[in-house]
Amino acid sequence: MSATIRKPAAKVEHVDVLIVGAGISGVGAAFHLKDQMPGTSFVALEAQDSFGGTWITHKYPGIRSDSDLHTFGYRFKPWVGPPIASAAEILKYMEEVIADNGLEGHIRYGHTITRAGWSGKTNLWTITAIRKADGAELTFTTGFLWMCQGYYRHDKGYTPEWAGMADFKGKIVHPQTWPADLDYTGKRMIVIGSGATAATLVPAVANETAHVTMLQRSPTYFIPGRNAIEIAEQLRALQVDEHWVHEITRRQILKNQDEFTRRSREEPEAVKAELLSAVKLFLGEDYDIATHFTPKYRPWRQRIAFIPDGDLFQGIASGKASVVTDEIERFTEKGIRLKSGNELKADIIVTATGFDLSAQGDIDFVVDGKPTALKDTVTYRGMMFTGIPNMIWVFGYFRASWTLRVDIVADFVCRLLTHMKKTGAKRVDVAIPRRLANMPLSTWIDPEDFNPGYIMRGMDQLPRRGDQRDWQHTQDYWGEKDEMPKIDLDGEEFVYGGVEVPA
Ligand SMILES: Cc1cc2nc3c(=O)[nH]c(=O)nc-3n(C[C@H](O)[C@H](O)[C@H](O)COP(=O)(O)OP(=O)(O)OC[C@H]3O[C@@H](n4cnc5c(N)ncnc54)[C@H](O)[C@@H]3O)c2cc1C
Repeated sequence: MSATIRKPAAKVEHVDVLIVGAGISGVGAAFHLKDQMPGTSFVALEAQDSFGGTWITHKYPGIRSDSDLHTFGYRFKPWVGPPIASAAEILKYMEEVIADNGLEGHIRYGHTITRAGWSGKTNLWTITAIRKADGAELTFTTGFLWMCQGYYRHDKGYTPEWAGMADFKGKIVHPQTWPADLDYTGKRMIVIGSGATAATLVPAVANETAHVTMLQRSPTYFIPGRNAIEIAEQLRALQVDEHWVHEITRRQILKNQDEFTRRSREEPEAVKAELLSAVKLFLGEDYDIATHFTPKYRPWRQRIAFIPDGDLFQGIASGKASVVTDEIERFTEKGIRLKSGNELKADIIVTATGFDLSAQGDIDFVVDGKPTALKDTVTYRGMMFTGIPNMIWVFGYFRASWTLRVDIVADFVCRLLTHMKKTGAKRVDVAIPRRLANMPLSTWIDPEDFNPGYIMRGMDQLPRRGDQRDWQHTQDYWGEKDEMPKIDLDGEEFVYGGVEVPA
C-alpha cells in the first residue's frame, strides 16, 4: 500500500480585522489599529517575503520617492533624512515603525489572498490565502476587511507590444522586474518613457553606461530642486525636537502644494513658465526645451516628479544622457526605428512604460454567494463601496503623498469600528440615499483632471463615482483632512445590520 502524504487540515483562524498587504498602507493600518483600538485582534497578510510593497518590489538603479518623505512618511513618526529618499531608506523607516510598535507578530509574509467571501448570515468574511512556504490553503474569518493592496500588480509591469520586439538582439528589461545581475557598464541603453521611473533611472545609470537615451513619445513636467527643505533645516539648526520639525515641515509642504495645485488650475500658463524656466537653468538657452520638456497638457494633470538636485538635467547637460522625443516604428535587431526614420542603437532597452492596474489585488470577491467586483460598485469617498459590506480600500492621493490618506482613512476606520462596537452592529454598508437615486455616475476619476496611463488603461476595473463629494474620491487632501473626522456615522449613507440586542 503506498503512503499518501496529506497536509493536515488547516483550522480556521478568526481575527476582528484582516489587513491585505504590508506596504506603506498596510503597516500604517496595523499601527493605527493597535494604537487606537487596543485589544482588537488583527493580522496583515502579505504576498511578498517582507514588508514595503512598492519599495521592495522595485529594485532598479536609483529607486527613490518622487515626493517628500515628511508627507510620504506617517504623521506619527518623524522623517529625519533628506526629503527625497531611496527605497532602502524608506524600508528602514518602515522597519522601525514595525519594530517600535510591536507589529511583527501581526504580519504574515508569503500569504497570497485569493478569495474573500462575505456571508450575510454570519456577518463575516471568509478569506482564502495560499501560504508560499508549503502551498497550503489557509482559511481566516474576519469581521472587517481592510484592503491595503495598492493599485497595481506587483509581479509584472506593463509593456506595450511593439513590432519587431523578438528581433532585438539585446536585452529588454522592465524596471519592475529589474534583473539583479544586469550589467550595463559600457553599454548603450534606451529607456522608453519619461515618468518618474525613467527620470530616476536615467541619471542613476548615466555614469556607468556608454550612453543612455530617454525615449519619450511626449514630454513630462518635472520640478528640479535642492534635496532639502529650508524650514526643516532652520528648525534643526535651532535644535527643535524632531516631532515638531516633522509636523511643521509637513504643514509648510502641504501649504505650498495646496497653493501649487490651485495655481495649476487657475493660472496654468504662469505655472508652466515657472516649471520650464527651472529646467532651462540646468540645460541652458540653446537646449530644445520646447520639444523635449514642454508637455501639451496643463501642469498637474499627471503626477509631477521632483528631481533632486536636477540630476536628470545634469546628466543631459553633461552629454552622458540625452532625450529623444519621437514615436517607435518598430524594434530592430540593433535597437529601435523611430517614426521620424531615425534609428537608435542599443544593447539594453528598458521599458519604463508603467504599471498593470489591479484594483482588487487579484482577489475574487463573493458577497452572499454572488461574485462581486469593485467595477460594479459606486464608491463612498473612494474608500467604501456599495454592495460590499465591512470593507475599506486605502487608495491614496495623486497630487499629494499617498500616505496622508493612510492616516486619515485609518482614523475613519477606527472611529467606524468603535461606533459599531458601541451600537452592537456587525455589518455596515454604504448606500446611495433615495434623494440621490438619480445621481449621474461616471468613471472613478475625471480623465480631464488626471489621466496617467495605468488609470486610463484600467479604468474599467475601478468603481464608479457620483457627482456629489461624498460619492467620489475627491483627491482633495486639504478638504478631506477636515471633512473626514466630521463624517456623521449615523448619516443616511451608512446602513447598519446584525445588531445584537442584549437579552
Ligand atoms: C517606483 C514608485 C515610486 C513611487 N513614489 C511615490 C512617492 O514618492 N510618493 C507617493 O505618494 N507615491 C509614490 N508611489 C505610489 C506608491 O505606490 C504609493 O504611494 C504607495 O507606496 C502605495 O502603498 P500601498 O501600501 O497602498 O501599496 P503597495 O506599495 O502596492 O503595497 C501593497 C502590498 O499588498 C500586497 N498585496 C497585493 N495583493 C495582495 C493579495 N491578494 N494578497 C496578499 N498581499 C497582497 C502586495 O504584495 C504589496 O506588498 C510610487 C510608486 C512607485 C511604483
